[in-house]
Amino acid sequence: MYDQHPNYTILVNWGVGKQSPRGFGCPKACDYCNWRGWGGLPYQAQSSPQVSAFVASCRKSTVSISGGAEPLYRLNDNLSNLLAMIGVIRDHRLRTRVVTREVQHVAKLSGIVDRFSISLDADVLAELPRYQHEWTGMDVEYSLVLPPLPTEQLHALMPQYTALHRRLGRRLVLRENLNSLYSADFSRLSAGHRGIVFVPKSLCLAGRYLATQEWRGHEILLDHQKLFEHLMQDPRIHIFGGAVKHMLSATVHSEFTDIDLVATDTAALRPLQERFGYQFREVSEGATSYPRYYLGKSNRAGKSIHLVLLKTSEEARRFILSAQYDIDRVGYSNGRFYFDDLVGETSIRQALQRKQATAVDNLRDLTLFSANRPSIEARHRIKLVRRGFAIHDNNRNQTYASNHLCTAGGPPDSGSDSTARLL
Ligand code: SF4
Repeated sequence: MYDQHPNYTILVNWGVGKQSPRGFGCPKACDYCNWRGWGGLPYQAQSSPQVSAFVASCRKSTVSISGGAEPLYRLNDNLSNLLAMIGVIRDHRLRTRVVTREVQHVAKLSGIVDRFSISLDADVLAELPRYQHEWTGMDVEYSLVLPPLPTEQLHALMPQYTALHRRLGRRLVLRENLNSLYSADFSRLSAGHRGIVFVPKSLCLAGRYLATQEWRGHEILLDHQKLFEHLMQDPRIHIFGGAVKHMLSATVHSEFTDIDLVATDTAALRPLQERFGYQFREVSEGATSYPRYYLGKSNRAGKSIHLVLLKTSEEARRFILSAQYDIDRVGYSNGRFYFDDLVGETSIRQALQRKQATAVDNLRDLTLFSANRPSIEARHRIKLVRRGFAIHDNNRNQTYASNHLCTAGGPPDSGSDSTARLL
């Protein structure tokens, strides 16, 4: 049972200075970051009256200062704003917790910030030995977002988390991943001691957040599990690209950047707008081109949708199954996967498991692809290489002829670089 009073968090984004006042104040550039495109982040410090009004109703002892971006980004430039915010929180007799990756600054705030939560990733772990000795007597814990995996696969990782906790020597907080398509059953993930703590996403969704205004968590955080439950059941929607790879093998394809969809009816966009806060902008090449392309962005921190609008389910399947590489010739609609018969389900599953993409040498139907398909496919190829795929191009001198069948090495697309791919 959790305290009925919600957690209070102030989201910051200090921006990147006068040159780009609307930048994202975080030194990293994770391509899966959900916050970078969220429109509710402030681009300057929140005013003291705004902070004061927000924390006045907090019934817990601690207020968090978190991203959005990074609270300790360019600390020298932003220290006065941070101190002003902490001062307001203290005036309300509340404690302050800062969630950060900027481990080099933590000790500088000893005695000012009451508690730190260090967000772990590979880079932060590598930096820790340089700074941990500075934190004696400080209240510092570590936190890690769980990978977006089903409970059984998370369970298999518990020995690693136990070893990590032992190595860190402080409390380790494991947070449920809001990008996950699966809900974690924490009753099956106990570490057997209180040094490892689990935070379900329901806690984040129930929290209160201050950025440019006050929000509840469910108003600004997209729960991708609920979104995919909808997408997977709507017969007018076909899922392809990186998302469908993740659905087939969450362990091997643990991250996907955007969500690639084909819709066969514009009415299918309505629940995405109404339930999940998406707004769609048409990005088709010309007034009469076909198919039509849309870019969807949610007003919550969530993944973008790249959507192709076609007329029929048959066209949707043809679009997806004419892809450049074997690994992309798979889609999901109406509760089931479908695979290109030419390549075969077993071969596609094996190729995905091994991360080996092979161009499919057959007559390709390119009638549903745009004229600049070759450059789209070239970018998709680069993206696959970056994601660790071995590429086997059987015929490097491919010929493309949109609006005609063509003899060529590979099908199009999918994957996760949908911006490039769909335009
Ligand atoms: S806020 Fe986090 S996820 Fe986003 S770019 Fe920065 S480090 Fe990466």
